[in-house]
Amino acid sequence: MDAPSSGGAVAAELLRDLAAASRILAAQGVVDGFGHVSMRHPSAPDRFLMARSIAPALVTPGDIIEYDLDCNPCNAGGRGSFLERFIHGEIYKVRPDIMSVVHSHSPSVIPFGLVGVPMRAMFHNAAFVAAGVPVFDIRKAFGATDMLVSDGAKGVALAGIMGNKDIVLMRAHGSVACGPTLQSAVFRAVYTEVNARIQHWTMALGGGGPIAALDEEEGRLADGPNRTAGTRAWDLWRAQVRAQVNW
Ligand SMILES: [Zn+2]
Repeated sequence: MDAPSSGGAVAAELLRDLAAASRILAAQGVVDGFGHVSMRHPSAPDRFLMARSIAPALVTPGDIIEYDLDCNPCNAGGRGSFLERFIHGEIYKVRPDIMSVVHSHSPSVIPFGLVGVPMRAMFHNAAFVAAGVPVFDIRKAFGATDMLVSDGAKGVALAGIMGNKDIVLMRAHGSVACGPTLQSAVFRAVYTEVNARIQHWTMALGGGGPIAALDEEEGRLADGPNRTAGTRAWDLWRAQVRAQVNW
């Protein structure tokens, strides 16, 4: 099959930001040898950008590949693709508001996909959690698998469970955090992991009693533009990457 056409040139600074996002997520303990971040093509909504299949902390702008939403690479040039890129493509298809997607296996989050305790918003930085956190169980539609979202059908099922939420947990696997900007998706991925940690502490401290988490309305108010589009955390993390690379 011929490679799909490109959606057009992307500003070098955006490619640097996307590569930096990968390293930020590694530095913040959200991704390790695995996991990935993508962003929708800035001028072609039916294309997205993500790194070739390498460890997130090693990504450079030259590793970024463009894909169509069926996850066919436009310009792989022999570079390998992440098996789970279908998470990204299928979410972009059904959620035009989402411009960036992070998939990770961050460890504190995983227990919430294994037991019946819902993740709740423990503090204002995780306000987006208050809208609710669905759990995708790949076994329900696909039986026993290798747990990976490695084709379009599995991506469709995952995006369907996520619905209109911005995060979704994946049973015995990991989670996905999305946002209207690259910066907000990174912020949400980081604070989903931090929130999970705080909820474990809270439940241990509270002995199973009630938790005074943010309610849905508080979550909506606290998840305003000052949070997800605010750039203070991003500016810090981006500067830390800039100090370590020559691009
Ligand atoms: Zn995964």
